[in-house]
Amino acid sequence: MVESHSTQSAEKKVYNLPKPTPAFYPHKGSPIYADKAFYKKIADSDKTLVEKHLCQPRTGIAVKVPAGHVFRLTTPEGPQVCDLNIWNLHNPRERFWAARSRQLHSAHVSTYDRLWSNLPYLRPMVTITADSLQERGQDEWGGRLHDLNGTRCDPYVDKLISGQDNDEHCHSNLYRAVQPYGLSEFDVHDVLNVFQVTGLNEYDQYFMEACPAQPGDYFECFSEIDILIAISACPGGDLSQWGWGEDKSNLEGSKMVDCCRPLGVEVYRLNDQSVLESWKSPPTANYKGNHGLKYAN
Ligand SMILES: [Zn+2]
Repeated sequence: MVESHSTQSAEKKVYNLPKPTPAFYPHKGSPIYADKAFYKKIADSDKTLVEKHLCQPRTGIAVKVPAGHVFRLTTPEGPQVCDLNIWNLHNPRERFWAARSRQLHSAHVSTYDRLWSNLPYLRPMVTITADSLQERGQDEWGGRLHDLNGTRCDPYVDKLISGQDNDEHCHSNLYRAVQPYGLSEFDVHDVLNVFQVTGLNEYDQYFMEACPAQPGDYFECFSEIDILIAISACPGGDLSQWGWGEDKSNLEGSKMVDCCRPLGVEVYRLNDQSVLESWKSPPTANYKGNHGLKYAN
């Protein structure tokens, strides 16, 4: 049995009361939540493929997606975890905020959830329009797909845990992918782990399971503003053989390498632009205060 090292008790308490309501409770007509009928129309409408990229195993790529377009992340050769970062194409200080997106929607996201930007912007950067794995739901351990609880793997935590210097991580893949766009390591941020099954165990600790995606599976988003996205084909692959540390001199023998596959990115334009007639690229949150700061005249 693995020692838990958790401050949390595994003991279950039963209060015989309904669970508390979500802190960010959706009220009818809230601008936070997507108009499902509208986004279904986008998902169902005919589109033209305008760009297609293959992200090789254990690498990262960055792709520009104009506002009003749809992009698909795919697993062309089967199970592979995908770490996603998003920036405003014109202002990289505005970027995806995993924690707020988790609070506004849920810790795992799917169709009609939105990925929000950080402060002081706070607007939907993309709305998820389709997810071929949506029906999978929750498994017997409570694991769910498309994770907002965790973040990217990185060489610093690997060093901390394994004592090794390893360059094969999503953080490094994302950094290399965005460097040609003038972004730095500091621009890499907490990710959405697409195609990744995670949950919290009985001690409230983060766990990961093997990726269930098959060739043909996809995760599709509508771009609300002009964005730059970067993805990493996680060097942990499908997470079936995942572990910290890796013998760089003998990657041939690494089981982790054997379960690494490519990812696809496809960008589509809607053929019938009248579908977007009622849509406007969302403005940033309209807070007009000054955080209580007062200045003398
Ligand atoms: Zn990774």
